Amino acid sequence: MSSAQPAEPGPPRVVVIGGGIAGLAAAHRLLAGGAQVTVLEAGSRLGGKLHAGELAGVPADLGAEALLARRPEAVALARAVGLGEALQPVAAGGAAVWTRGRLRPLPGGQVMGVPGDLDRLAAAEVLSPEGLARVAREAELPPAEPGEDVAIGAFVAERLGAEVTDRLVEPLLGGVYAGDAYRLSMRAAVPQLFAALREERTLLGAARAVQSRGAAAPAAQGPVFMGIEGGVGRLPSAVADAVRAAGGEIVLGAEVASLERGADSPGAAAAAAPLASGAAPKPGEAPAGTVPARWRILAGDRSYDADAVVLAVPAAAAARLVRGLAPQAAAEFDGVRYASMALITLALPRAEAEAQLPGGTGFLVPPVDGRTIKASTFSSAKWRWAGDDDLFLLRTSVGRIDDEKTLERDDADLVAASLDDLRAATGLAARPVASRVSRWRSALPQYEVGHGARVARIRGALPAGLAVCGALYDGVGIPACVASAHRAADELLGRPGTMAA
Ligand SMILES: Cc1cc2nc3c(=O)[nH]c(=O)nc-3n(C[C@H](O)[C@H](O)[C@H](O)COP(=O)(O)OP(=O)(O)OC[C@H]3O[C@@H](n4cnc5c(N)ncnc54)[C@H](O)[C@@H]3O)c2cc1C
Repeated sequence: MSSAQPAEPGPPRVVVIGGGIAGLAAAHRLLAGGAQVTVLEAGSRLGGKLHAGELAGVPADLGAEALLARRPEAVALARAVGLGEALQPVAAGGAAVWTRGRLRPLPGGQVMGVPGDLDRLAAAEVLSPEGLARVAREAELPPAEPGEDVAIGAFVAERLGAEVTDRLVEPLLGGVYAGDAYRLSMRAAVPQLFAALREERTLLGAARAVQSRGAAAPAAQGPVFMGIEGGVGRLPSAVADAVRAAGGEIVLGAEVASLERGADSPGAAAAAAPLASGAAPKPGEAPAGTVPARWRILAGDRSYDADAVVLAVPAAAAARLVRGLAPQAAAEFDGVRYASMALITLALPRAEAEAQLPGGTGFLVPPVDGRTIKASTFSSAKWRWAGDDDLFLLRTSVGRIDDEKTLERDDADLVAASLDDLRAATGLAARPVASRVSRWRSALPQYEVGHGARVARIRGALPAGLAVCGALYDGVGIPACVASAHRAADELLGRPGTMAA
């Protein structure tokens, strides 16, 4: 028996693949837990779907723009990385639905378009009189039974009539998933409503119960959404700064091409090692002969060794990377569909825009109404920081699942189509002084029926030491992505004890 003492293990070394908000949040959490962290991002900028850009010389969010503040994770992260002072609530109240020929107020008291308050639904006039009467007849139906999971669109249509699905649920879900309500999972996309149906016999009652529970929660006192002065797109770089300040490494242009399991040796030393044989080790790299690590990650011409890996990339990349390690998980990733969309940001002369646009933050457009745009946000009305004395920023969105054609249209065409729709909806006649089209391809994972079970199978099929996070798992919104990042980090940090397991 050897009398040699085992070397004192150093801090666990974790490589995070993907520098979107989930990967960065995971890195931030891992560093706080004492790990050494390297983030590998394929692109030339961090943030993924969060993108701080500019138009006509003023800052503009070219991707995500709002943080749901009714759950804590995203605003807490913003505060933790020094953006607390920059958080801004929505400045104007009220969104609308452009349907049945005009803008109508989005009814209050609904949960993702499912009404809980018949009076407010009636007052909004989003539904026809027949549609409204059909909603009221839910009480005559047998108790609502969603089973293990159900497509929300079909279920709502069956309970409350197709108009509710088409004019309310579709546009609201469309705003989050760019999805098809007749395929999206009620359990995964609106879990609170699904859960409430266990106790309520009607869908209206379930929506009402979710609303009153929400109103009673402590967070209900504060704003529903927060933005960040200068754009939510600032969040990734602030998190990245905090990651670097805590000793983490972030590598851009590092598209991970393969992920391999090394020898199973807990506490292995790990560092970036050049692939090219004979290259001299750089400072901090593992010299030849160090204990092999559990994971070897190849990106470009470099390899990185690690004790554990966080995979924070969309499904197609995740499938490629785990195909050899966990074929079942790869097959599950292959089954996730993604929607593409584009945002068209317009800089308008402020005085004209303010005179011509209605009040409120913007409007949603049900697909059933056959317009090109599916929503418009009056950014300079919604956020105090957006635009300046002369410029009013506004954006529209186009594209949803199974509609790649709209994204093929050229930029000028998408701007013209947006202006046509805006004019028809609001009377806006102002011409933009500048415009910018941001195409987001394969941007939003579709939480179709059975999604929750799929996610459980993915997590169950992955080897120990490999954790996943991001939009694919526990919700597509930024707070949910951050929560999944914390879950992945905590799993690896062993709270309690899994890193060394
Ligand atoms: C247009 C748009 C608007 C949105 N608006 C909002 C909003 O207002 N509020 C909200 O809460 N949510 C919004 N969302 C949703 C939310 O922004 C996203 O779900 C979330 O940002 C996804 O973060 P993520 O880190 O999981 O993935 P991503 O942002 O996709 O990041 C993944 C990263 O991994 C990198 N990567 C991929 N493959 C590799 C590889 N092989 N090696 C290394 N790196 C790799 C990618 O380059 C990317 O940077 C919006 C989404 C879109 C598309």
